[in-house]
Amino acid sequence: MSFSITLPDGSKKDFDSSITVGKLASSIATSLGKAAVAGKVNGQLRPLDYVLDNDAEVAILTDKDEEALDVLRASAAFVFEAVAKKLYPDLHFGEHVADEGGFFVDTDKDDQIKVGELPRLEKAMQKAVKSGEKIEFVQVAKSELEEQFKDDPYKSELLKKIDSEMVDAYRLGDFIDFGFEALLPNTGKIKHFKLLSVAGAYWLGKSSNPMLQRIFGTAFFKQAALDEDLKRRAEIKERDHRTIGRDLDLFFVDPKVGAGLPYWMLKGATIRRVVERYIIDREVGDGYKHVYTPVLMNLDAYKTSGHWAHYRDDMFPPMDMGDGEMLELRPMNCPSHIQIYKHHIRSYRDLPLRVAELGMMHRYEKSGALSGLQRVREMTLNDGHTFVELDQVQSEFAKILKLIMDVYRDFDITDYYFRLSYRDPKNTDKYFANDEMWERSQKMLKGAMDDLGLDYVEAEGEAAFYGPKLDIQTKTALGNDETMSTIQLDFMLPERFGLTYVGKDGEEHRPVMVHRGIVGTMERFIAYLTEIYKGAFPTWLAPVQAEIIPVNNEAHGEYAEKVRQELAKRGFRVEVDDRNEKMGYKIRESQTQKVPYTLVLGDNEMNNGSVNVRRYGTDEEISKSLDDFINEIDADVKSYSRE
Ligand code: ATP
Ligand code: ZN
Repeated sequence: MSFSITLPDGSKKDFDSSITVGKLASSIATSLGKAAVAGKVNGQLRPLDYVLDNDAEVAILTDKDEEALDVLRASAAFVFEAVAKKLYPDLHFGEHVADEGGFFVDTDKDDQIKVGELPRLEKAMQKAVKSGEKIEFVQVAKSELEEQFKDDPYKSELLKKIDSEMVDAYRLGDFIDFGFEALLPNTGKIKHFKLLSVAGAYWLGKSSNPMLQRIFGTAFFKQAALDEDLKRRAEIKERDHRTIGRDLDLFFVDPKVGAGLPYWMLKGATIRRVVERYIIDREVGDGYKHVYTPVLMNLDAYKTSGHWAHYRDDMFPPMDMGDGEMLELRPMNCPSHIQIYKHHIRSYRDLPLRVAELGMMHRYEKSGALSGLQRVREMTLNDGHTFVELDQVQSEFAKILKLIMDVYRDFDITDYYFRLSYRDPKNTDKYFANDEMWERSQKMLKGAMDDLGLDYVEAEGEAAFYGPKLDIQTKTALGNDETMSTIQLDFMLPERFGLTYVGKDGEEHRPVMVHRGIVGTMERFIAYLTEIYKGAFPTWLAPVQAEIIPVNNEAHGEYAEKVRQELAKRGFRVEVDDRNEKMGYKIRESQTQKVPYTLVLGDNEMNNGSVNVRRYGTDEEISKSLDDFINEIDADVKSYSRE
């Protein structure tokens, strides 16, 4: 036997008998042997005990390599499994994953693991780590594992997906599991780890499967790195709209009554209503005609539009009405607005014709992709379509972009960038086929951005199937890029639906259609606002703008009600907290609820017709006349608009 190992620097080492990855590391340098965590053999992570007996490219990973973290985290997941199995002998395990985000293990148990049990599991893991026990790499016949796991429905199903006779597995004492690329040779190095949280997750991510408990954790080679990661996680959690949405009672989503179908509670609904009114007023001011159109439409319309051919995976299945009629929940509003255009004969004098709607639509997003209000299955889009003559495209584009920028200023949105989204020239199946149309419209968009002197990135493969677009990308608290606003050129739908207008020359012409969303969907937009404001909404958006707290309900309740009425009649959103609680508690609660103004009313205030005002985020209390306060809050509410 003779074979040769190629190292990352291109050098070769020849061997005439087999050697493990770990021994190979030591043969390169004793220090490397000590530092080695795992190997990468022909691009695949392998443990130090893996035997090399053939030509291969091998890289030795130490704790300096990014991928070594995956090995560490997978090892932590494995040790978690081993100790959890000891503590809960009837526990089953589903999938396990380790990556740059940490690790998770899916578990199944009658009374399910609760967050409160994580410290106990962590302790047991620490014990296993202290003992520095060997994690043995073994190659086991698949049939043997099948026998061993015959009463475990999850492992049995996972084994079915493996098509080799021998399976790589790992042992810790008498615990065994498979499905790991590489683990550490012993538990000793897994010192800095943490079990983070528990959440429900469907077996294999399918909502028709049983719900398992997913246990999340993470691990690092150094305590400082773990501390930093935990701090970052805490910050993200503080910002996460799902956490804030629960704490401030803005909305909820309950998979039992419908995954991705949000319920807007009173406060969330109030914020949404303010945003909706704001955007409608803005658009009407910009010449849009606001309409209402049905969420259900004959499937034929989506066949004509091409959605059925290109977008079906994201659509709910059609409803067969039994008499040959097929109805479809719309995934987009474009075909609906086209009906509005077609309802009258149009002439050049009607153009640009701007149709807008807060249009409810449904998309069958994968259950694993759903997230709070950010990604849902029922959503309401601040949608609009403008129908223009060809030589109006550029000015209409600039007009829409100006509207977007004005709106961003009002909401204090500053962290965004422009992305020109083109079709993927290598995957033209996904797109409407007309090369000339694509070339022309992509050039037009780019030209418009260059004329405006704006910076942008270009992304192939991100276009809509009917045309290229300008996307405005923002970042979520979790650091993901999300499209907020979009302007899309479309030469296709006007063609498909046979749209025409009578030109100056008395002839029929084809309009160009511009699809645009300013604040995107209400769902994603309000999730985003919640995160950038960390729940402390500016006064004009805050669901409760002022909280009135009588020092004593009996003595000051009447005055509190009078102040409430004075404010409410001027359109401010105010509440009196007259619960039987201590005043200090109510003031703190008003702060946790992030109410912009807290008014405390006692004898002094009642006798002088004044209010004692505490602004959110300050400790200062200032007494002023009710009239002065009304002027103050009024100016504050109006201050959002920077026109
Ligand atoms: P994504 O790539 O995020 O799925 P998309 O490119 O399919 O979005 P468009 O068809 O352009 O999105 O939809 C317009 C707007 O609708 C987007 O800018 C985004 O704000 C919003 N949106 C899209 N899908 C969802 C969803 N599942 N939940 C909430 N909002 C969404
Ligand atoms: Zn559209």
